[in-house]
Amino acid sequence: MRILVTGGAGFIGSHLCERLLRDGHEVICLDNFFTGSKGNIAGLLPHPGFELIRHDITEPILLEVDRIYNLACPASPIHYQYNPVKTIKTSVMGAIHMLGLAKRVRARILQASTSEVYGDPQVHPQNEEYWGHVNPIGVRSCYDEGKRVAETLMMDYHRQNGVDVRIIRIFNTYGPRMAVNDGRVVSNFIVQALQGEDLTVYGDGGQTRSFCYVDDLVEGMVGMMETDGFTGPVNLGNPAETTILEFARRIIGLTGSRSQIVFKPLPADDPKQRQPDISLVRQRLGWEPRVEVETGLKRTIDYFAAKLARE
Ligand code: NAD
Ligand code: UDP
Repeated sequence: MRILVTGGAGFIGSHLCERLLRDGHEVICLDNFFTGSKGNIAGLLPHPGFELIRHDITEPILLEVDRIYNLACPASPIHYQYNPVKTIKTSVMGAIHMLGLAKRVRARILQASTSEVYGDPQVHPQNEEYWGHVNPIGVRSCYDEGKRVAETLMMDYHRQNGVDVRIIRIFNTYGPRMAVNDGRVVSNFIVQALQGEDLTVYGDGGQTRSFCYVDDLVEGMVGMMETDGFTGPVNLGNPAETTILEFARRIIGLTGSRSQIVFKPLPADDPKQRQPDISLVRQRLGWEPRVEVETGLKRTIDYFAAKLARE
């Protein structure tokens, strides 16, 4: 098949492009390089089945494809809050353009949604039935509400125009090729620990997250795309929940670092707890994460150690 991956030069997108090429598909990677980089896909450029297009999905584009994975959108709070109007345009106009394309060329389209659609959840763990608890006017809403509208558009194009859609709600995913300056907790803590700097825990570190290794996520994405007759939304993540303070201690332990932990102010609307209920995806796809957090973290630490040594 010919497959379009928007945001293909980003962290998750680059792993997805690699996987799809390995499966024998032709891959068109579309990216505006806001948070993605050419370095992430440098290894794929010589592949005869790989094409790269610099394009911003807030503008329409016409391509002949069979599948669209719509990942274009900055994912780290510092990056999506840098230009919030652009973030919401990327989610909303990007979804409209990609759905218009899917409708026109009869492609199946998968939307990378997020656990952020649950906001600061009052149900724990979060299952897909839960409608969420999102502040519509807060600093995270450009991302959360943008992604919620993208889900709405998916379902409306599906009901109104018969577009074949898939919605996945990704929970915190980590791994090699996160940017050193990404700003999310996994890369921040690992880079700080490797450089002997203090680890910056926001708030008292009592808030929780559940971290999924990127290879597991990509397996679930492809599985969801190729499952017939099931639009989702479906949660994809690893239920292994940890407080951020425990997580900081773990990174210090795994890196053997002498870094200390310092506490910084908690950003506004930071969700207090997050853990995916993955019963639905287990039942429908037989998918579940396989990479232990310790194994995934060691691989990620090795990646950053090598990268920092080169810089
Ligand atoms: P990332 O920032 O590394 O990747 C996003 C990519 O989209 C980058 O390559 C960026 O340059 C590109 N992009 C941004 N705006 C664009 C635009 N207007 N036009 C074209 N390209 C644009 O982040 P990621 O972690 O790889 O996230 C990928 C997708 O998965 C995002 O949609 C994100 O919301 C979603 N997601 C990720 C996580 C996670 O934990 N990593 C969790 C939930 C959802
Ligand atoms: N966090 C932290 N220190 C950092 C970066 C993040 O304590 O240097 C916290 C952040 O406040 C949040 C959690 O770690 O509670 C996860 O943050 P991230 O930005 O990775 O993703 P989020 O799940 O909040 O979108």
